Amino acid sequence: MAAIAQAGRDYYDILDVPRDAPKSLIKQHFKKLSRVYHPDKNPGDSSASDKFMEIAQAYEILSNDDKRNTYDRYGEEGVKKQEQQQQNAGQNPFGNIFGQFFNGGHQGKPKTPNIEIPLHVSLEDVYSGVNIEVDVAKHVTCDHCFGSGAHNSDSIRTCSTCQGQGSTLKQVQFAPGFVQQFQQQCATCAGKGKTIITTCKACYGRKIKRGNEQYTVVVDKGMSTDQTIVFEEEANEAPDKDPGDIIFKIITSKHPVFERHGNDLHTNFTITLIEALTGFSKFISHLDQSAINFKRSGVTQYGLVDKIIGAGMPIIDNHDEYGDLYVKYLVKFPEHVDSEFLKDLKNSVFKPTHDEL
Ligand SMILES: [Zn+2]
Ligand SMILES: [Zn+2]
Repeated sequence: MAAIAQAGRDYYDILDVPRDAPKSLIKQHFKKLSRVYHPDKNPGDSSASDKFMEIAQAYEILSNDDKRNTYDRYGEEGVKKQEQQQQNAGQNPFGNIFGQFFNGGHQGKPKTPNIEIPLHVSLEDVYSGVNIEVDVAKHVTCDHCFGSGAHNSDSIRTCSTCQGQGSTLKQVQFAPGFVQQFQQQCATCAGKGKTIITTCKACYGRKIKRGNEQYTVVVDKGMSTDQTIVFEEEANEAPDKDPGDIIFKIITSKHPVFERHGNDLHTNFTITLIEALTGFSKFISHLDQSAINFKRSGVTQYGLVDKIIGAGMPIIDNHDEYGDLYVKYLVKFPEHVDSEFLKDLKNSVFKPTHDEL
């Protein structure tokens, strides 16, 4: 009976789910695997990106009732044929799976609250971009009962009170001879139409359990404090609800050298009195460890601000462009100056034109 699927790839194997897996589990495994093999997380690794495509393809088929049906009966070839036919009929068989997925394709069910997580990053992180692994503890659908709450499929029975309807009819006589029927939710099964004889031992019938999920948060170059990175529908799972979003919120920590103002950076740089008088060429380390040259000739006044074009932060929407770096020069005066030296200074070098000294 498994012979059919062997003709092509086994999409159930690819997503590591049993053949009778409910949609929620398929979706859960797809999300988990696609995070592991996401190209952002495996730069330059073509085997990972092949795997990623394979996972996406498997999910595209198994998440679509129609395609999954065809696949179960006729295998990969059957799905291809079906798509061909639809294409010939002018339909687009490749519904944008990621679009559906990440833009909240289905509506209606209430959502569990969003989880907001502060993400502390350094200025170096947002200068160069970084991937950060974050473990998030949350409620996930029980993988033993697939969220049914039942020990096994035999433990789920049709509710005998409502015969599986989920509701019962109540007759109310509101005046002699006037009887009206009201439909009300079945109290035995709480409207589910099914009752559970033996509850799942893994989740004690709660349908969800505590879990842990790892996320790779891609912090893009130029991101700033309060910007958010959203993982849609990744918050707590709950029966009869869609998960809300996990929202990572960037918080950039203070840097000892640079202060950020929008796309620009500001820093103070202290020079000696001699350097202030004669000029200098100095190097400091930028946020990516490259060298920045601070260079002036002649006299530098205390507090002078120089602008170094393009040495600021990368611009979020255009990584080829950068803000500017403003450097403010501070002069460290000597604690003591030898009196003989001062006399010489006054009498020789600076006289008579440098009265200001
Ligand atoms: Zn369970
Ligand atoms: Zn019932």
